[in-house]
Amino acid sequence: MNEADFLIVGGGVAGLSAAARLARHGRVVVLEGEEALGYHSSGRSVSFSHFGIGNAAVRGMTAWSRPFFETPPEGFSETPLARLMATVYAAAEEQVPKIEALAAEMARFTDKVERIGPDRIRELCPVARTGPGHAIAAIYDPTGLKIEAAALLQGYAKAIRAAGSQVFNGRRVASVDRKRDGWQVVTEAGETFSAPILINAAGAWADKVAAMADVAPIGLQPKRRTIIVVDPPAGMNVSPWPFFHSAGGDFYMLPEAGQILVSPEDEVDDAPCDAAPEEYDAALAAYRLEQHTTLTVTRIAHRWAGLRSFVADRTPTAGFDPAAPGFFWLVGQGGYGLQTAPAMAAIAEALATGGAWPEELEACGVEPAAIRPERLRGGSSQAEAT
Ligand SMILES: Cc1cc2nc3c(=O)[nH]c(=O)nc-3n(C[C@H](O)[C@H](O)[C@H](O)COP(=O)(O)OP(=O)(O)OC[C@H]3O[C@@H](n4cnc5c(N)ncnc54)[C@H](O)[C@@H]3O)c2cc1C
Repeated sequence: MNEADFLIVGGGVAGLSAAARLARHGRVVVLEGEEALGYHSSGRSVSFSHFGIGNAAVRGMTAWSRPFFETPPEGFSETPLARLMATVYAAAEEQVPKIEALAAEMARFTDKVERIGPDRIRELCPVARTGPGHAIAAIYDPTGLKIEAAALLQGYAKAIRAAGSQVFNGRRVASVDRKRDGWQVVTEAGETFSAPILINAAGAWADKVAAMADVAPIGLQPKRRTIIVVDPPAGMNVSPWPFFHSAGGDFYMLPEAGQILVSPEDEVDDAPCDAAPEEYDAALAAYRLEQHTTLTVTRIAHRWAGLRSFVADRTPTAGFDPAAPGFFWLVGQGGYGLQTAPAMAAIAEALATGGAWPEELEACGVEPAAIRPERLRGGSSQAEAT
């Protein structure tokens, strides 16, 4: 029997970041079903941090988390965790009110947001289609951060081990039982672990883990998102390009290692699984790239898909289940689990140990009531669009 103070199911960014904080309070064991950390959503993200996505709570957590990426704790990573990359939201005429509203939301967290016109859009991204029927205006924010996801996950794993806690790969939890003094889990291979507090950070599988524990579901909906990778025309240097979004929410692209990552911003309901790109969604990504830019896609060099899992109000959720003592949810990070991970980890630490709500989070407009699972009980499980 392996005993711990905190047992965490899931070795994605949610489980690892929380474990690194909780390891200051006691022995933590992270159980990850796959052989590699971050095999699912955390390793399939485009790893960006910006204020253009999510609701006010998400933006507040993004703001709070930003210094962690810019100046990580001493010894966390040998390589930088993030680098600046601007974001652009480009609007056709009918979408201009949308970018104006977005600029107002973003302006609460960055004073660098600028309204730009077609010439500046093309200067930043020479292949963008501009003019009637295409982008006529955009908002530009130079403060976006491209996060190094692998360095982030490895940094957290290293911090957990350095604090004397453990991360086990290849340990899929097969059963969860409530005992008199906490929770006991048994892995597929028959190993048993126990702790008074069980943290459910199982990503898309979180409602399945809850079902094993006889805890009511939180109403998580995994939604598949597709990325294709294309080569730019020979001689075209894409590295100075921004993270370019269509204000219509149907397209984004960003440079990565000399290539272009493209998404049709699909959100297809899916079951928890090893997500794979559908032919249709990959073709849609290529089509949208040709619609929004002057590029022609002759070959898709690479493609993947991953799950972004949302609860009903699309706000990440942390806290004890009101009906299951010691059962802690850390779920629903949607499309912002990397950029909010430092804040969610601090929230998980505070709520799981009975500590004070991080003060600065309140200053960023993030209130406990917006994050705790109580708000979702009795609500619909259908994610609403933001
Ligand atoms: C295409 C795409 C682009 C994205 N872009 C961004 C972005 O730019 N910025 C951003 O912040 N976020 C982005 N995201 C979202 C981000 O990736 C997620 O919010 C985040 O990774 C969720 O982390 P997680 O730890 O909850 O989930 P996961 O990384 O999926 O981790 C959950 C883990 O739990 C494990 N598990 C499940 N069941 C069990 C079990 N029974 N036993 C043991 N282990 C189990 C799984 O194997 C998995 O590794 C993107 C996501 C996708 C798919």
